Amino acid sequence: MPSTSTAVRPAYRPYVADVARVERLSPHFVRVTFTADEFEHFGTARLDQRVKLVLPHADGTFSDIGQHEAAGDWYDRWRALPHGERNVFRTYTVRRVDPEGRELDVDFVTHHDAGPAGAWADAARAGQSLVVVGPDARSPYADTGFDWHPGTARRVLLAGDETAVPGIAGILESLGPAYDADVFIEVPTAADRLDLVHGPRVRVTWLAREDRPHGAALIEALTAWTRANTQLLKLAAAPRRQELDDIDVDLELLWDSPEDGDGEFYAWIAGEAATVKTLRRLLVSGHGVDRKRVAFMGYWRLGQAERIE
Ligand SMILES: Cc1cc2nc3c(=O)[nH]c(=O)nc-3n(C[C@H](O)[C@H](O)[C@H](O)COP(=O)(O)OP(=O)(O)OC[C@H]3O[C@@H](n4cnc5c(N)ncnc54)[C@H](O)[C@@H]3O)c2cc1C
Repeated sequence: MPSTSTAVRPAYRPYVADVARVERLSPHFVRVTFTADEFEHFGTARLDQRVKLVLPHADGTFSDIGQHEAAGDWYDRWRALPHGERNVFRTYTVRRVDPEGRELDVDFVTHHDAGPAGAWADAARAGQSLVVVGPDARSPYADTGFDWHPGTARRVLLAGDETAVPGIAGILESLGPAYDADVFIEVPTAADRLDLVHGPRVRVTWLAREDRPHGAALIEALTAWTRANTQLLKLAAAPRRQELDDIDVDLELLWDSPEDGDGEFYAWIAGEAATVKTLRRLLVSGHGVDRKRVAFMGYWRLGQAERIE
């Protein structure tokens, strides 16, 4: 039987993390800074690197998914637990990680009708614990868990709602000056605009939802943008007509994250699933953009809890 030191490490592993600080960034964003000695091994591509946050049971405990000896696959261990012993987990984005300083920031959206993760973030206090499932720098497979794959494209479009802000912020921070980017972000209120660090050829448009339905402002802005950029979109046209499956966002995962490829244009769209679906149709069916140049991710579904199975 191989010893754990020679077994191949999985890409992701659970880290027991403590809350070091909580900072209210705006009416709907809370930044939680986690600390853990083991974060020295946290491997990340930054960008829109995703993590799973495993929430405590009502009595504050966590079932064993390998967080103490970090061996084997955390998800297999989670699934092997009886249903009642499985801690709930949700998907979030690494906003900042400092392996040397052993810190990790996650920006949570707080919203009414909050589920377990939103409620946890609203009440988070220094000293509380969580299990963060994130990449393990020592794994040969650690270069995974992100969806930004522009390939050769240097003309890019990013669009999303508040849940996509951490991903968009991480991507913009990593873009070199060669990228020419249009960015559209819908947030609940004008006071939820955050400072983003980006290059000189990046144009960010914040859209405050206020009393409008979710996604309406984003769809309107992207519709106007596509009309003003038909020449650019023609450069990204698919060689032949594409059929899109009519995904029922209430039943199926709305997710397509094409691999890096050749092309001048690339779009990255994330947020509430029904809005993301409309935006994908606008680009792919409406303007014939090659679906291999469009990453779209339904991060959450209006009226439905994140499905974990
Ligand atoms: C790859 C990825 C990265 C993500 N990164 C982040 C991130 O960095 N920060 C972040 O805040 N979210 C992020 N999300 C979204 C987050 O996982 C969901 O919002 C999740 O549903 C929140 O869990 P919850 O327990 O609060 O609510 P759930 O139990 O999943 O849902 C309960 C109710 O809340 C509603 N709801 C869920 N999210 C929202 C919302 N944002 N606004 C309004 N209503 C909502 C649901 O429709 C449901 O009715 C990410 C999702 C993915 C897939």
